[in-house]
Amino acid sequence: MKKQYTWAEDLIDWFLVNQREMPWRTDPQPYKVWISEIMLQQTQVVTVIPYFDRFIDRFPDVQTLAEADQSDVLKYWEGLGYYSRARNLHKAAQSVLEFFNGVLPADYDRLQTIQGIGPYIAAAIGSIAFGIKVPVVDGNVFRVVTRYYGIFEDISKPKTRDIIFKELEPVIKKCNASHFNQGLMELGALVCSPTSPDCKLCPLNKSCFAYMNNKISELPVKAKKKAVPQMNVAIAIVEKDGKILIAKRRQNQMLGGLWEFPGGKQEAGESLEETVVRELREETGMTVEIIKRLTDVRHVFSHFKLTITPFICSHVKGIAKAITSDDVKWIKISDFDKYPFPTVNKKIIKEYLKKI
Ligand code: SF4
Repeated sequence: MKKQYTWAEDLIDWFLVNQREMPWRTDPQPYKVWISEIMLQQTQVVTVIPYFDRFIDRFPDVQTLAEADQSDVLKYWEGLGYYSRARNLHKAAQSVLEFFNGVLPADYDRLQTIQGIGPYIAAAIGSIAFGIKVPVVDGNVFRVVTRYYGIFEDISKPKTRDIIFKELEPVIKKCNASHFNQGLMELGALVCSPTSPDCKLCPLNKSCFAYMNNKISELPVKAKKKAVPQMNVAIAIVEKDGKILIAKRRQNQMLGGLWEFPGGKQEAGESLEETVVRELREETGMTVEIIKRLTDVRHVFSHFKLTITPFICSHVKGIAKAITSDDVKWIKISDFDKYPFPTVNKKIIKEYLKKI
């Protein structure tokens, strides 16, 4: 007799044979699953693995992470981007130490009381580390499930997540929750890709709506995004007595706690040269003179595109003050490595070091 949830069993059988090796899979302790899930937000598995290994070596448990300096945590996050994740993770570790005695709770709702843990991460930690039977719904799962069931709802709307969650809830109740959730995510990553899913190799092809009805290119449904705005920024690498000025971004800013070269947004009708001189005056109270313009550096963030024009400048007058930052420092060029910088500033450092 045909069993009711055969597709889930087919999925799990496929997962157990085809899953990629990942350090948090080999040893799925709650803390490791948590760190991996925070790192995997917006970042690919292959990129995350070396960061994860280094991070776990340095901060092997909640207590070590909670008691570390924020700048040390940011240093180990440097290059992964989306630094608010690291700052929130650090604060969250402190609250886990304070309120849960350093142990993540084996409870879907209580996990969500921890900063940075929403329904998705709570479901991932819950199912993978504790076997709690609650479905994960991430981008990969949206794609597989809307195709499999033929759900034509816009996946950017919150109610679509609820529809998928309700669809999966009775299914996961009858399975190994860890294998089921990871199987769906892995199938989305390896087989059911956005543009060219390998349906012939898919364990769900016998009953997949999109495959059987030739609707793959129509699913998932997603409303088009608005155009991403472009921003031009000029920054100064100010040289004085063999040292360079850097500023620490404010905690409540994007990339807060990281160090950068001072500078800012170009205003209407202003040349980039005028921008950099004005920004230095406003941000540090110093007057600088431009020595040389370096090659532009471009970077794409989730909500805007940035073109940064770096200028090597000399100090003319004024003592550097932290007017719009948390701190300013004159550092030796050989000390760049000691401070956590956003990726875009690291690109600028590379450009600068080529020119001197
Ligand atoms: S059969 Fe194709 S479209 Fe359906 S879940 Fe599998 S890979 Fe995705």
